[in-house]
Amino acid sequence: MKSGFLIDMDGVIYRENHLIPGAGDFVQALLATGTPFLFLTNNSAPTPEDLAVRMRHLGIPGFSARHFYTSALNAADFLSETDPDCTVYVIGEGGLLAALHERKIANDAIQPRYVVVGEGATTMEKLAKAHECIEAGARLLATNPDNWCPVSSAKTRPGAGATAAYLEASTGQRAYYVGKPNGYMFHRARRKLVELALGELEQVVMIGDTMETDIRGAVEAGLHSFLVLSGSTRLETVGDYVYQPTRVLQSIADLTTEVLTGQASDRLDSPAFTHGGSHAHRPGLRHQTDRFTFHKPRPRPAMTK
Ligand SMILES: [Mg+2]
Repeated sequence: MKSGFLIDMDGVIYRENHLIPGAGDFVQALLATGTPFLFLTNNSAPTPEDLAVRMRHLGIPGFSARHFYTSALNAADFLSETDPDCTVYVIGEGGLLAALHERKIANDAIQPRYVVVGEGATTMEKLAKAHECIEAGARLLATNPDNWCPVSSAKTRPGAGATAAYLEASTGQRAYYVGKPNGYMFHRARRKLVELALGELEQVVMIGDTMETDIRGAVEAGLHSFLVLSGSTRLETVGDYVYQPTRVLQSIADLTTEVLTGQASDRLDSPAFTHGGSHAHRPGLRHQTDRFTFHKPRPRPAMTK
């Protein structure tokens, strides 16, 4: 059976600038067997080229830009497909600016059709400008719903979801979030994977470490989902979710033999990455989309003269 893999990066391939044990062997096995795969990340800051360099520094050479699909590319694909002549005011880093530029979507700080929010680059001035644009009629789109992102086992940074939430609060408008778990992210990634494979795939598997984005998105897109325990999810919490992964693995290293031989592995005693997990009990919602079930408009009182 011809399988293809969509693979999350943080918590699956690396953690805090360290390769997860066995991850290098796994991706080398994919390359050696010609198994189609695509790295899928909600981080909209880097370009695919930046990610290829990052992988090389981690000790895994052999990747090019075509092996990566980011939420920035997904936002640019979404706009160029649904509203190709639109203009945008952007709060975001190089990866987002480059993706929009590539799809020929013009910047516009006067009367943009969309405010596009990605990771980083937020300043008070830019937020004020974005607020003005939305108030004048621009629609709000965010590259991903992550309120915060891990930096190390003891540190996080604010994510695009938090920036979008600021603008939702100030303008009373709701943002639309692309990136995982949005079905559009999985639909476009699957299409790109089929292009890379040069033909239809019988099975597409999403491998990820986060239930709310990787597993939920895969389930909703009708894909198989393998949860790895080398990142942000502890086995005890998996049962709390309505949606469940197809398989649970200690780490991506459990799949290496399977990729090489084609024989399904039941190995669950691999050298699991035991580090971290300290964000597991962090208070607050990790993703802006987590509160969709409690969707309420946020009306503002009329302005006083
Ligand atoms: Mg992850």
